[in-house]
Amino acid sequence: AQAALTEADPQAKALGYFADATKTDKTKYPKYAAGQNCHSCALFQGKASDAAGGCPLFAGKQVAGKGWCSAWAKKA
Ligand code: SF4
Repeated sequence: AQAALTEADPQAKALGYFADATKTDKTKYPKYAAGQNCHSCALFQGKASDAAGGCPLFAGKQVAGKGWCSAWAKKA
């Protein structure tokens, strides 16, 4: 399986990724709204039931379903 993306990853830091969306720094990322997470993001490649899945912004890594980053986009 692919390695989990860590918050210490430079790309994760650049995009404001948090493995737990509720820990998102709302001062730095005011567009974050409660309820947003990778599961509800259009870019998440896993299933809704998957704890983690791929994201094209973090090639080769798995993002947490409960995670969030500043590139979050509402699933259609
Ligand atoms: Fe999660 Fe979407 Fe950000 Fe990828 S783009 S890390 S799926 S919020």
